Amino acid sequence: MKELLRTKGFKVTPQRELIFRSFFELGRHVTVDELYQKVREKDNSIGYSTVWRNLKLICRVGLAEEVNIGDGLTRYDRTTAAPHGHLFCRRCKKLLEFNVERIVGILAQAARENSFTLEGFKVEIQGLCEDCRRVPDRECDQGKAN
Ligand SMILES: [Zn+2]
Ligand SMILES: [Zn+2]
Repeated sequence: MKELLRTKGFKVTPQRELIFRSFFELGRHVTVDELYQKVREKDNSIGYSTVWRNLKLICRVGLAEEVNIGDGLTRYDRTTAAPHGHLFCRRCKKLLEFNVERIVGILAQAARENSFTLEGFKVEIQGLCEDCRRVPDRECDQGKAN
């Protein structure tokens, strides 16, 4: 992790190292809150804004990217993870992933046909997950009211 920070031109501080390492330990779809909790478990002197700033930094150097699903919460995906699409459940806000291998070829072809160089893409499916599909809308809403 230290080497990585250095090659990206960062000053290596123990705090920064801890934040970066925690992010990569958490893996995918990390929110600032989750990262903050994880960092605080090890060092509770680190403030929220420091965590947030460093997370932005991780994105800026291309190690992670923002995932905005439309529920107002920004999640962060490490870019070293294999390309994948997202399935977002509008009810329980669960974020699942699926393999996009089949789609990549089609997207690359669409780019070629338009004399476009493909550098990245986002695939997102919105709907209901298996668990939520079993519960009718009405029951769910009543549950929420209680
Ligand atoms: Zn993801
Ligand atoms: Zn769901």
